Amino acid sequence: MKNELAVDKFMEFVIPVTETGCWLWTGETRNDYGRINIDGQEIKADIASWETQYGRLPVGQRLQHKCNVRCCVNPDHLTPIVG
Ligand SMILES: [Zn+2]
Repeated sequence: MKNELAVDKFMEFVIPVTETGCWLWTGETRNDYGRINIDGQEIKADIASWETQYGRLPVGQRLQHKCNVRCCVNPDHLTPIVG
């Protein structure tokens, strides 16, 4: 995410679950996956979260949820995989 404002907006939609470490997304979803509108562009909330932590997701890769919770946006629960 580009700026502090976007990160603040993002965290407004997150509920951390201490037992599992999951960050449950409470904003908009599609197919149970979180979506967020940043600067007029709708993007996947899990990718936005991961990229804030680790930088750009390489082209051709997607994120897999290690915790199997689709609406989780904790970057530590997301692993990039090819395909
Ligand atoms: Zn999780």
